[in-house]
Amino acid sequence: QRQRVLALTRSTFEARAELLITQDISAAEQLNATRTAFVANVSHELRTPLTVINGFLETMADMPALPTEQQQQFIGLMQKEGQRMLNLLADLLTLSRLESHSLAAIETQPINLSALVGQLLQEAQTLSKGRHHISHQTVPDIWVEGIQTDLYSALSNLVFNAVRYTPEGGNIDLTLARGEDAQQQPVAVFSVRDSGPGIAAEHIPRLTERFYRVDAGRSRQSGGTGLGLAITKHALAEHQGTLDIQSEVGVGSTFSAIVPLKAV
Ligand code: ADP
Repeated sequence: QRQRVLALTRSTFEARAELLITQDISAAEQLNATRTAFVANVSHELRTPLTVINGFLETMADMPALPTEQQQQFIGLMQKEGQRMLNLLADLLTLSRLESHSLAAIETQPINLSALVGQLLQEAQTLSKGRHHISHQTVPDIWVEGIQTDLYSALSNLVFNAVRYTPEGGNIDLTLARGEDAQQQPVAVFSVRDSGPGIAAEHIPRLTERFYRVDAGRSRQSGGTGLGLAITKHALAEHQGTLDIQSEVGVGSTFSAIVPLKAV
């Protein structure tokens, strides 16, 4: 009887071990697949602007007598593509930095979110160039603990997306308020509501994946790298915060960053 029990226990143990190893392998495979896809995406994103730049350079080399006006036009287009690559590299560096550290290992500082939102409001107005109705509702003196540059990245991506995706004449509302999370802990809630195109429900869970875009053409045309919301998600997580996305096609979207008031 005892032997049978032992045998049984061992076989259960072996089965468990096998299951754990299988799970481990599939997790490793998954990670590998994600990495491969990421490298392929980055290569593609860099190759596109480089191909455009090379094309213009070849044309200019082949046609030395090209009118100055056309030369200027080509140079302008090449500069735009160069800027696109710089933006992509800046976002990639931000992402890898966010992934490689935790707040516990870094010196944090108190951040005045109200002041940060005031700054974002001005930047939204500059970027919009008067094409949108931008309103704001903020509460003074909301402080959180964290890293200023990372929180700026997290929140500015939401604001800039609203400006970039909302057609001319649309509304953009920035709101900063105090609230409570599900555990009744005090949080700061920063919401960006727009009257833009909205996003279909099936896309919403994937928006924070790197390079996931609903409309790739529109994203690239407006200078998007496809990494903005991935950065937002990571930077908020670094502050124990979360991102909430509500959207309805044809009505608009609301992106809310929720950050504990005592994050660290
Ligand atoms: P991108 O650089 O492409 O804007 P993001 O990660 O910031 O990358 O956003 C991912 C995608 O989410 C965008 O390509 C766009 O399709 C969608 N999106 C983000 N913000 C909005 C918004 N305010 N309104 C509509 N679509 C949005």
